Amino acid sequence: MGAGPAALCIVAELVEHGLNVTALASHTPEKPWPNTYGIWAEEVETLGLESLLGHRWSNTVSFFGDGSDPNGKKPTIHNFDYGLFDQNSLQQSLLKRCQGLIWNLETAEEIKVLGQETEVTCKSGKKYKARLVIDASGHRSRFIRRPNNGPVAEQAAYGVVGRFNSPPVEKNQFVLMDFRPDHLSQQEKNEPPSFLYAMDFGDDIFFVEETSLACSPPLSWSTLRARLQARLSHRGVEIREIIHEEHCLFPMNLPLPDRTQPVLAFGGAASMVHPASGYMVGALLRRAPALGEQLALAMSIKPNLDSSALAQKGWEVLWSKELVQRHRLYQFGLSRLMSFKEDELRDFFATFFRLPTKDWSRFLANTLPLPKLILVMLKLFWIAPWKIRRGMIFGISTSK
Ligand SMILES: Cc1cc2nc3c(=O)[nH]c(=O)nc-3n(C[C@H](O)[C@H](O)[C@H](O)COP(=O)(O)OP(=O)(O)OC[C@H]3O[C@@H](n4cnc5c(N)ncnc54)[C@H](O)[C@@H]3O)c2cc1C
Repeated sequence: MGAGPAALCIVAELVEHGLNVTALASHTPEKPWPNTYGIWAEEVETLGLESLLGHRWSNTVSFFGDGSDPNGKKPTIHNFDYGLFDQNSLQQSLLKRCQGLIWNLETAEEIKVLGQETEVTCKSGKKYKARLVIDASGHRSRFIRRPNNGPVAEQAAYGVVGRFNSPPVEKNQFVLMDFRPDHLSQQEKNEPPSFLYAMDFGDDIFFVEETSLACSPPLSWSTLRARLQARLSHRGVEIREIIHEEHCLFPMNLPLPDRTQPVLAFGGAASMVHPASGYMVGALLRRAPALGEQLALAMSIKPNLDSSALAQKGWEVLWSKELVQRHRLYQFGLSRLMSFKEDELRDFFATFFRLPTKDWSRFLANTLPLPKLILVMLKLFWIAPWKIRRGMIFGISTSK
């Protein structure tokens, strides 16, 4: 179910394993995805997919200073390439692997487990049966059971692809996080922080996006738009032409699904977003092959496994004990970050990016094995200033 990146990643694997797949999606899978997907270049290189990047930057920086003096304006240089997928290439490369698959343009409304099989009833009234249903209908799926752990923090962003009176970032530059607060009043500094994510697309076109990493309730798009304008105008930058606007909102710390349920999920529906960064596409590409392989194996060697048993096999691969532990650590980290005020957050990230590149990049990609992840978190604690250490333990704001 679905036709976003998660659905296409998993369906491509299942089709390649020769399974009999029926796809249900509210719209044609050829419809261009609405989001721009960014990723660190090393992640796509490891997968041999670097040709799917539409843009790539080597000049990658962040700003964690206060912006008030020459020192506070100095960037943190990442020395690590970042890219944006060419959405069409990524989408088409996945669709090509799904050759022969028939997409039913249907919206699923109800899922009923009948024992050996599961039945999906669609808005059209049509019913589809399968040995296993995989829900890849996104972060807000209502079919997947998960515990209610209280309010969920959301990442929110408002962005503009456009032309400007003067460049909002340097030529050929990618800015992961510009946290400089020098355009904010004292009162604004006490509000939940946001940062600028920005890049040069060439031909005098830039993408600028004001982003709130995670907040509950989320920051509104109108607040983020006003903050973006204030940030730009403080630097003498005005938007001359809007080519595209991006409105971003998705949950960051959605609880993990109940892994005993008889419907499997993948992608946003399976809480696969990295809780500390909001990234997911790299994880989809990395984690789909093992899931596809195990499902194909379970279906072929045990033809009598029912929906529930098959879903179990899937959940065990998708959320192995190790991945669950890592996810808990990341969620703990996010809860601490959310208690930081803007100056603490700047100090935290300045410290984080002082870690060796292989540590911070693999932390962000979620490719560190658990013992190594713990070690990197301890290293971070060790090199952090005292007030950040206190915040990392107690999660309380240490600002006056
Ligand atoms: C604006 C934005 C920018 C993002 N940027 C990045 C980024 O740079 N890098 C990154 O790694 N991640 C990013 N993310 C996070 C994450 O990767 C995306 O949210 C991603 O699109 C989630 O993929 P998905 O396939 O799980 O869900 P979706 O992309 O939401 O796709 C869900 C699909 O299911 C279909 N569907 C929904 N309900 C039903 C139903 N009942 N029946 C049938 N079909 C249904 C929908 O039509 C859609 O095709 C971003 C998210 C947003 C919102």
